[in-house]
Amino acid sequence: MESTVTIPLLKDHHSHPLFYSAFNHAVSLNEVQHKQLAEDVLRQSFEHRNGELTVAHGWRSNHYQWSQAELELMPPLAVFNVSLHSLIINRGGMNCLRLKYGDIVKQIADPVWYENNLRVVLNWFANLYASRENLSYFFAKLRDLGIHYLEEMLLVDENEIQIFEDCNLLDRTRFWSAPDTFQSLSPQAKTQVHGLKLFTDGAFGSESAALHRPFLNGEGTNRGMLIYKDSELTNTIDQCLETKKSLAIHAIGDRAIEQTISALKQLEPRLKRAPEIRIEHAQLISEEQANMAIDLGIKLCMQPNFSSDSSDYADRLDQAYCIGNNPFRMLIDKVGYTPGEDLLLGSDGMPHGIESAARNSFFPEIPSQKISIPEFTAAYCLDDFSKGGINLKIDESTRTISYDILPPEHDQSSR
Ligand SMILES: [Zn+2]
Repeated sequence: MESTVTIPLLKDHHSHPLFYSAFNHAVSLNEVQHKQLAEDVLRQSFEHRNGELTVAHGWRSNHYQWSQAELELMPPLAVFNVSLHSLIINRGGMNCLRLKYGDIVKQIADPVWYENNLRVVLNWFANLYASRENLSYFFAKLRDLGIHYLEEMLLVDENEIQIFEDCNLLDRTRFWSAPDTFQSLSPQAKTQVHGLKLFTDGAFGSESAALHRPFLNGEGTNRGMLIYKDSELTNTIDQCLETKKSLAIHAIGDRAIEQTISALKQLEPRLKRAPEIRIEHAQLISEEQANMAIDLGIKLCMQPNFSSDSSDYADRLDQAYCIGNNPFRMLIDKVGYTPGEDLLLGSDGMPHGIESAARNSFFPEIPSQKISIPEFTAAYCLDDFSKGGINLKIDESTRTISYDILPPEHDQSSR
């Protein structure tokens, strides 16, 4: 049975537009599940790049891996895991980066250094190809995917604000920045930053999300990593609150979410200095944690795309984690989170767009991950049709989504 509904364009609450715009011409491995196909796709890029660095993203480590020796046989190459929380790179690729950023790039090979310096590495890549042309082209493509607005969760530097301004795109984003990037900005630029962003753990793809129970693979002892010790996190959040900016805290695993909520709880009287406080991802949040979070006034910014982690990462997450991943029904029905108010949705660019967002929201593998169309519209769309709309065709029998993009000021009577 097919049904049709018209919704406003998307307001993606979590992305990295400058970084992804630098990837306009990078290789996407998002849909690739076999090593042979990945190598075919890469080979085409090698032919075009003629010895220059090939950057790929969307590598799914649960489907295939390369040994370092295999990588060394290829032209200069850097491949991001789909989570962005790990990167494989060969010597040729490393040399391309060293030319611009110096010997510090060698540290990339150390996974702990990488996780602790993730945004530094992402900024290196963003700055390799950041330009007005790339950003304008990227935003034009976003419209075809149904997105009008998307939040920049990791401001690269002050120049990024200038690029957005030159492209006339300031009204299609708002900027979050790491605390040290924020401190480096001019007073004028600081006023253009909406909030500060912290990371408390890694991700499933790189087996670095901080869990209470260990990842299943390897020796079965890895519980991921916390970026901060408890007291460091509390102090860092406290310093962020001094700026009176909003705060977004990346926490995927239950151990990271617990650390984040207990740090915020300790600072409770001071939290109202921040206009809003969000936890980003919150994939393994428990009901008890969610109750504490809602009492503290903490918003959740989550990604329906990551509902499929329950099957994609069944190799590494135990069954209770797979079932508990992205528990939207618990959050909305039991804890009282309200889509669009304190429950927001976004993509993290993995991938961008209405098709993946809607399919994972309306047809998840785990029933507790299901989001209704009105909930989706409240949490993931613009308020009205002034920028355009999306005509969504939802096929219940094949569990597929197709869509057309409608021009601005579409007649709403058809809703
Ligand atoms: Zn992100």
